[in-house]
Amino acid sequence: MSNKYTDLIEFDKNHIWHPYTSMTDPLPSYFVTQANGVELTIADQKQVIDGMSSWWAVIHGYNHPALNQALVGQSHKMSHVMFGGITHESAIKVSQQLISITPPNLTKVFISDSGSVSVEVAIKMAIQYWHAQNKPEKSKLLTVRNGYHGDTFAAMSVCDPVNGMHSIFEKVLAKNLFAPAPKTRFDQPWDESDSNALKAYFEQYHNEIAAFIIEPVVQGAGGMRIYHPNYLKAAKALCDEYNVLFIADEIATGFGRTGKLFACEWADIEPDILCLGKALTGGYMSLAATLTTDKVANTISQGDAGCFMHGPTFMANPLACSVANASLTLLNQNDWQRQVQNIERILKENLLPLASHERVQDTRVLGAIGVVEAKQAVNVAAIQKHFVDMGVWIRPFGKLIYIMPPYIINQQQLNSLIDAIASALDKEDCFV
Ligand code: PMP
Repeated sequence: MSNKYTDLIEFDKNHIWHPYTSMTDPLPSYFVTQANGVELTIADQKQVIDGMSSWWAVIHGYNHPALNQALVGQSHKMSHVMFGGITHESAIKVSQQLISITPPNLTKVFISDSGSVSVEVAIKMAIQYWHAQNKPEKSKLLTVRNGYHGDTFAAMSVCDPVNGMHSIFEKVLAKNLFAPAPKTRFDQPWDESDSNALKAYFEQYHNEIAAFIIEPVVQGAGGMRIYHPNYLKAAKALCDEYNVLFIADEIATGFGRTGKLFACEWADIEPDILCLGKALTGGYMSLAATLTTDKVANTISQGDAGCFMHGPTFMANPLACSVANASLTLLNQNDWQRQVQNIERILKENLLPLASHERVQDTRVLGAIGVVEAKQAVNVAAIQKHFVDMGVWIRPFGKLIYIMPPYIINQQQLNSLIDAIASALDKEDCFV
């Protein structure tokens, strides 16, 4: 790496936390100086093809002229203004767009700063909804194992209790209910018995449950598991039968990633509360939204509090809302369905067959998501270096090597990602 950046990288290593990274024995961080289209530039020198969309977010690629223009244009009007007692066009436009593209029952929008916060908001909405009806005992969350919903406390309390962070924070985490994870795969015939265990939780605990929360169809950070949409249908029917709200966390799956605009569409269900984030701004800025129904919003507002108890400083930040508006417009203009279908076809042709490799446990594909589950855990530093040497950016965790590239990726670039994964599988030092 060029000497020019050595001091900065050393400072970073000694002083700056990175996600889930030790301060005393950190994994290497690559110094990115630019990003354009589907490529990141490392230290002004090496271009790598991005397989991660910066964690599901950068769907239209980096440095996009339309998104840049939205930001610059908005910055000339106002970069920020408080949302208490004030409103603005960007917030109104983004809410109009979200209401028009999400399931028809969702009519009220709470705009916040990040995915985790949108989950906190969803959980608070559910609890306040029952509180307003004099049912404060309905305050628990029911979820499934292998879920991931964010790193803040309420979100953590519904992450998988084993591979999440429960053991460290056990004493302060809310005690929620965990049904087994859905077992029937997306591509298998539906097995009715898959939702039996869930039904038992509803039967036994419905008087204590405010809401059921789940990532529709794809469980992301909790294992990249792709399950049968009928599980969602069954869960929604149980929510209706037992008077429990249904929260869909589409922070990762939203905006076309699974081949439907929202993954709930695979099951043809309408959640009571929907969390969105990540790709909402095309990955430009942190912004999230929690949508809900007239019924939930009206009930909360008619309770003793008289309002919903949340209001972040940067709520509906105009820069973030304006870039979200531009990103939603691009989604349509770019024909996301065709883009995602093309990615899915190539992943099915070239990534699924890696299942026959001796180091591979399983491969799976849905929409613009491709997963290779290895038999052993990867050596993150070694495999990352191998990928960068091969000219790609892929960041695996545990046994999972997975890609969810920007929708604008071309066939050749996508095949480079797949070839790099295939070559890593042949390298012993890439695994522990
Ligand atoms: N829910 C899901 C399904 C996610 O994938 C994530 C982010 N990985 C979150 C919530 C939390 O979002 P954020 O990192 O923006 O707080």
